[in-house]
Amino acid sequence: RRWIADTWTPTTASLTGDQAAHLARVLRAEPGQIFDVVAGGFLHRAEITSVSDQEVLFTLHEELEADAALPLRLLLAVFKFDHMEWAIEKATELGVAHITPVLARRSEKHLTLAAPKRAERWRRIALEASKQSRRTDIPEIAAPITLKAALEQEQSLTRILLSETEQATPLAAALASVGPTGYESVALAIGPEGGWTPEEMAFFATHNWTSVTLGPRILRAETAAIAAIAIASSCMA
Ligand code: SAM
Repeated sequence: RRWIADTWTPTTASLTGDQAAHLARVLRAEPGQIFDVVAGGFLHRAEITSVSDQEVLFTLHEELEADAALPLRLLLAVFKFDHMEWAIEKATELGVAHITPVLARRSEKHLTLAAPKRAERWRRIALEASKQSRRTDIPEIAAPITLKAALEQEQSLTRILLSETEQATPLAAALASVGPTGYESVALAIGPEGGWTPEEMAFFATHNWTSVTLGPRILRAETAAIAAIAIASSCMA
């Protein structure tokens, strides 16, 4: 398995908390043993230099080839925080590279106000999910921004708006039509519980986002996010 450093320098790494306790108590790790450690987004062979229940220290040796991150970015409208946290955790497990929380018109007012203070917690959730799923790279969770700002800065080649409107193209068909070059970078936008407003939908259209559907049923936002990531990643594989 891969161990994810809590702190590191160019030549050393330190694991604390559950990882240190597991190495010390369950695996009975000892100085001199070699493990694979992710430090600063890079995977290294690493040698233990000291072990306690609270902290395991390593010297970093050669860098190993890391997995290619899935070139998938998620624009996630702000919705109920417990559901959003679930979506962030699962999206991380599935391999998304980046999540931008978006302050949508129908995001509930109190959530919009509280969202900026939540970003750190969302980053911690992504970090824990990265450790749990043995990801080398930890997805970036941006600070929450308006839809206007999110669309203006989005550079992905393929931009997909998840919409429950019946006329939209199915997601897999829309991705098949862009071909392999379009898979180099894909952005998926998921609306809040109340959905995108018609003005927001029009705004997406002016920024060349394609409206797609996941089928006739209205899914909760977090279900739509995870289903869309799973379909997109299987098309991009
Ligand atoms: N406004 C909708 C309603 O009450 O009829 C519900 C919005 S839905 C709970 C939240 C978001 O999930 C939507 O904005 C969309 O991005 C996504 N979503 C839900 N069902 C979907 C479907 N069948 N196809 C594509 N996207 C869907």
